[in-house]
Amino acid sequence: MTTHSRRPTLVLVYQRTTLPWVFESAERAGIDLVLVPRPDEDVSEKRLPPAVVDVVRLDVESDPAGALAALRRRYEEDPFQGIVTLYDPAVPFVAETAELLGLPGIGREAARSAQDKRVMRERLAAAGLHTPGFVRLDDPADWAAAAHLAFPVVVKPAQGFSSLGVTKADTPQSLKGVVDEVWQTCASKLGRVDGLVVEEYLDGPEFAVESLAHGGDVRILTIGYKGDPQGPHFEEGVYRAPAALPDAVRDAILREVTAAHRALGITDGPTHTELRLRGGGTPYLLEMGARIGGSGVSHYIASAVTGIDLAAQALRIAAGITPEPLGAGSMPMPVAAAANYIVPCHGSGRITAIRGLDELRNDPRVDHVVQMLFPGDVVRPYPDFTGYPAFVLSRHADTSEAEAFHRYLDQAVRVDYAHDTDPQGQA
Ligand code: ADP
Repeated sequence: MTTHSRRPTLVLVYQRTTLPWVFESAERAGIDLVLVPRPDEDVSEKRLPPAVVDVVRLDVESDPAGALAALRRRYEEDPFQGIVTLYDPAVPFVAETAELLGLPGIGREAARSAQDKRVMRERLAAAGLHTPGFVRLDDPADWAAAAHLAFPVVVKPAQGFSSLGVTKADTPQSLKGVVDEVWQTCASKLGRVDGLVVEEYLDGPEFAVESLAHGGDVRILTIGYKGDPQGPHFEEGVYRAPAALPDAVRDAILREVTAAHRALGITDGPTHTELRLRGGGTPYLLEMGARIGGSGVSHYIASAVTGIDLAAQALRIAAGITPEPLGAGSMPMPVAAAANYIVPCHGSGRITAIRGLDELRNDPRVDHVVQMLFPGDVVRPYPDFTGYPAFVLSRHADTSEAEAFHRYLDQAVRVDYAHDTDPQGQA
């Protein structure tokens, strides 16, 4: 099938169709999408999500050269205006394709500095931004090079995502074992490991920041609370925005995140930043993704809190269309609170039931229950990451209501297993 529409058209790489926001935003923005589905997703051409006019199957991860050649041929036959992804590992491929086809994008260099945590740490440190002591390891045998850091430290893959393999080591004596374990986990789950980063543990609560850049002008839309995970593994938990923060801390976050865009060379498009407030007040970046976060969850949060259609703005920028003006002021005034609750696995084994989810689908506070694991699926114990059982996305008058709702969910939702290996799962 070839598209002959005169609407702007974007190639959207590796977006799961079960996460609806970017498709809905494309429709609202009048932008057509050519979807490159995830290889493991069976996309029916009869029931396509909104705005999708065509489906092209490409293996961007195993055969990037073949995928690029196919996109080039398509572009020559039927030009599209841009290419975009919300999937972190595909950010460099998308940036490279855009650069080679002369389409809008952040460029290969900026994409690599956002996607590779070694490059990110080096660039942030060179720009004088807050950086924990860190060491890059290209080989697990070199682990001793990181033994001089202040412990505890965190060991993570240079090009990981979803906290895969990210592990805390409390003492220099445990470092070798943790480095070997992270290397093995990543080799088996990612297929290859380019290297690791070992960095000092940043003690303090965690926040996510959703931003939008255009022509070098960086606007921060929301800052949300992400919990205070202590490790040794860092399963994601909650996201509640807007975060209640003293003005001075909020301003420090705005400065740090804006400067990080400059340091990494990200001038255009959405970013999703995660940071911790070391000692409770000083923002230290954990990572900055040059994409909408959480496969679109960041759009849900930012648009509910600000009323701004983040994904539509991001798609316009990717298509070379000027985004709508965001108004004056350092940050948009929140119009509501929004939250994501990631149902914890709390155990491992074969799932027999996920209790409490069905009731939530009719709860007026809940906009979406996105279920990823089902009865029959097997959750393997950490560090072998299987995925999250479900997201519960909700909207509230203010953040304290969101907090109360999450306390309720802690009791109301539970995963049952046929064979529990983790005592927490037997609660
Ligand atoms: P990923 O890209 O796989 O999500 P991150 O670097 O964001 O990897 O790490 C995942 C999580 O691990 C973070 O959200 C944070 O909770 C924790 N973490 C990572 N690095 C550190 C650190 N230096 N100090 C404290 N916690 C960390």
